[in-house]
Amino acid sequence: MLKLFTPNYYIRKYTSLRPEFLKEKGIKLLVCDIDNTLVPHDVALPDEEAKSFLKKMQEAGIRVVFISNNVEERVKTFVDGCELENPVSYPFACKPLPFSYRKMLKEMAVSRNEVAVIGDQLMTDMLGANIMRLFTILTAPIVQRDLSFTKFNRIFERMVFFLLEKSGKLKRGEFDE
Ligand SMILES: [Mg+2]
Repeated sequence: MLKLFTPNYYIRKYTSLRPEFLKEKGIKLLVCDIDNTLVPHDVALPDEEAKSFLKKMQEAGIRVVFISNNVEERVKTFVDGCELENPVSYPFACKPLPFSYRKMLKEMAVSRNEVAVIGDQLMTDMLGANIMRLFTILTAPIVQRDLSFTKFNRIFERMVFFLLEKSGKLKRGEFDE
């Protein structure tokens, strides 16, 4: 059970993630969460750092798609601001339910072992992607403030972090890179 919450890789911020690392693992597509993974949830547009990270991935041949639980307008505004060619996004994804991941796999014609997912939440991003057996990358949230429903998730997240630490699987703040 705890395994479903455990990321394969744990980093402080998305900027630690290099395309070479993903390519070595055979990853061809990176699924990005937006809120508190790439920008704070109350910041509408990507900053230069986020834009260059996404461009760097695409230039290295790794496709980027966005799967977010947030509403369409927020996701579209952010994704348009990334200035990517043919961006693909799945708003209102209801993570951890796996159907958006499943839809994405079908539409993007990739297999599970070619997909990595980066996100800041154990209860949504990691659980959903682990259910789908995708490669999971956890980041620390960019800022501590959260949306109200995320605050609720964080209470459970703290409990899961406690259990993960107790079982020696993952310690909060002890990053792989
Ligand atoms: Mg998030």
